[in-house]
Amino acid sequence: MVFEQAQERGHENVVFCHDSETGLRGIIAIHDTTLGPALGGCRRWAYRSEEEALEDVLRLSEAMTYKAAADDLPMGGAKSVIWIESADQPATEAVAKAMGRFVDRLGGLYIAAEDVGVNTQFIDWMATETKYVMGGETIAAGGDPAPYTALGVVQGMRGALLHLGKPNTLEGLTIAVQGVGALGYNVCKIAAAEGAKLLVTDIVDERVERVVSEFGATPVNGDDIVEAECDILCPCALGRVVDANNVSNLRCTILAPGANNVLDDPDEDSALLHGAGVVYCPDFVNNGGGLMQLAGLYCGFSDEELHRRIINIETVIKTILDDAKNLGSAHAAAMAYARKRIDAGKVQVRTNSGNTAATGSA
Ligand code: NAD
Repeated sequence: MVFEQAQERGHENVVFCHDSETGLRGIIAIHDTTLGPALGGCRRWAYRSEEEALEDVLRLSEAMTYKAAADDLPMGGAKSVIWIESADQPATEAVAKAMGRFVDRLGGLYIAAEDVGVNTQFIDWMATETKYVMGGETIAAGGDPAPYTALGVVQGMRGALLHLGKPNTLEGLTIAVQGVGALGYNVCKIAAAEGAKLLVTDIVDERVERVVSEFGATPVNGDDIVEAECDILCPCALGRVVDANNVSNLRCTILAPGANNVLDDPDEDSALLHGAGVVYCPDFVNNGGGLMQLAGLYCGFSDEELHRRIINIETVIKTILDDAKNLGSAHAAAMAYARKRIDAGKVQVRTNSGNTAATGSA
């Protein structure tokens, strides 16, 4: 079953990790390292079965390959999961350390980071056992990625505006932001400084009040924001915000997500958006700024290089959206863009190994 799934999705390694002392049950899935070592989050989740945990780690790690490739990073895709008994099971230092030791054994092929159920403390505990972990606060480098992600999301908006033949400024535009937590707040901050009008919602009232008082945002009731009349809709809360049932109700020109998995069915819904004339910035490209920051720290990018790469999201999104005209949807164009980079990497690897062999036999 594991080989079948790995064959179907193209995984390189699937490592099952068990630690008798702590009871840790983990799986590390390395999907593709053509472009470089694979960076991806470590998720702690109360799966109903081993099959469910395996399915999740295979699906998530595959997505990371395309995300890193589309974000023009010299990195591959991987992810790990820790299968816990129940959602309220405490995250312990002993389990984090055990997981850190398993990550360390892979010698840098996989670099772990935060994901659902794993916070910066857990990452720092892991980091006592391995240097191949990012996103902590005291031991592992990283910190809060939201400002970097937000900058990238805004750059994606600019790319979409350029694609539409408009100036790449947010001045005077109405931007609806769903969820004003770490990411949404930072998107509002940049957009307000540029003179955008903000419509906002959040299930936590104080977060709405903060952006109303700091940026003059207008509050909108709950899910109404998805169908609010605006230039740009920017979901920064949950996944699956747009599906086949509500595409025709959207009243935005551009859908520029910060949230992951914003479409219920990326292939189908992206084509529906295309047909409905809504310009969709593919989520995994648009929100790549945070990954770029972690990858940048790992790869040793200078601050200037990191900034240049995040700013470049504008050009990447415009290129993808221009390509989408022929490919039928922005999601298809983003996948094609990522695959092209991976295929070019494979040719490079083959060429290099060919050269090595030639040198060796001379
Ligand atoms: P966060 O928890 O800080 O903020 C999420 C906000 O959404 C919270 O304020 C929450 O109250 C609100 N929210 C939840 N359900 C809501 C609903 N139904 N309606 C309105 N608001 C709702 O998380 P974040 O770091 O800001 O991340 C937001 C999303 O962006 C997540 O999907 C995350 O995976 C994705 N993302 C974040 C980053 C990053 O750098 N923070 C990077 C890539 C992707």
